[in-house]
Amino acid sequence: LLSPTGDVAATIFAEMSALAVRTGAINLGQGFPDVDGPEAVKAAAVRAIEQGANQYPPGPGVPELRAAVAAHQKRHYGLEVDPDTEVLVTTGATEALASAVLALAGPGDEVITLEPFYDAHAAVVALAGATHVPVALEPAPDGFRLDVAALRAAASPRTRILLVNSPHNPTGTVLTRAELEAVAQVARERDAVVVTDEVYEHLTFDGAEHVPLATLPGMAERTLTVSSSGKSFSLTGWKIGWVHGPAALVTAVRTVKQFLTYVSGAPFQPAIAQALADDAAPRELAASLAARRDLLCEGLRAAGFDVVVPRGTYFVVADGTRLVERLGLADGVELSRRLPDLAGVVAIPLAAFCRAGSPTHARLRHALRFTFVKREAVLREAVERLRGLG
Ligand code: PMP
Ligand code: GLN
Repeated sequence: LLSPTGDVAATIFAEMSALAVRTGAINLGQGFPDVDGPEAVKAAAVRAIEQGANQYPPGPGVPELRAAVAAHQKRHYGLEVDPDTEVLVTTGATEALASAVLALAGPGDEVITLEPFYDAHAAVVALAGATHVPVALEPAPDGFRLDVAALRAAASPRTRILLVNSPHNPTGTVLTRAELEAVAQVARERDAVVVTDEVYEHLTFDGAEHVPLATLPGMAERTLTVSSSGKSFSLTGWKIGWVHGPAALVTAVRTVKQFLTYVSGAPFQPAIAQALADDAAPRELAASLAARRDLLCEGLRAAGFDVVVPRGTYFVVADGTRLVERLGLADGVELSRRLPDLAGVVAIPLAAFCRAGSPTHARLRHALRFTFVKREAVLREAVERLRGLG
């Protein structure tokens, strides 16, 4: 039996969202928007249901969605993707990540992640029975940066997967081309596969450029690119994701996916195919998020947090060391549990994204992650409440 502790414990997002419901606090914890995605996309799903898309869809995904994913990758990044053999539709990015790791890594294999890591990354490595090797992202004035020397030191002949994520949850870092090139070089040297989680590909600010790992020289042949409609189109509950890469790797992922969920959300697939053809919604979301980011960052500073301004995603890491000390708390976990009482706001402790006892954990032990994908009025109210702390 899996022990309900360690890397496969109850997800922090459920715990903190329940805390928000229980206390009536503003939920800036779990990352989901409070405004739904485009009306036309929702109408397309309703239409699909009415027109009979209610039974099992094809295993790899409906042809129009696979074609839309391939066209999207070509249009945005110049990637050539064969929709028939190189794309698999999944139940969110979560299932794509799980199927990829389960397909490629097992006991004795090592999987490198970027720490702090998205919690599901650690969980699926544990489910696969592989060894998790986290590599630090270090706080710097221009965001959290990959420690390239640490990455090289962490790689070994047993490295099977480099599981990377950019734009990065929870830090909001957009990895630079040089950082991604370091990942690519290690992958080539170790003959490893890169699984790259790009669910925030469209959510970048201040001109930060998202560089898909598969576009680096020689990397398309050893990269599985994962993305999802949840973040780009503010439809997180639909759980339509996808993975693309070389046919042999995608076939391996599909083999696992068949026995996890078999197929995914029939009526949502054609609707997301329609959504993917129009770049306006994600572009507008990113533009509106930049202003909301600034509002929240300023409010967090006024409340006594030190903030590393994110250039992507809809999360900001706020270091609460001064508050933890002034309030006489143990750490950021206690701060997050007390925050509903103290300020009527919920946030996620960075400890949830770190390995217990790691140097990154120690560095970020007083930090919290806040989301800014809420309506401006809600963020203003949260900032007003947080001001009481400062
Ligand atoms: N990866 C990252 C980095 C995420 O933040 C999330 C949450 N959306 C996911 C994967 C999961 O995406 P989905 O909801 O499509 O499964
Ligand atoms: N990806 C979202 C976040 O990081 C939540 C997803 C989840 O609840 N599993 O907050």
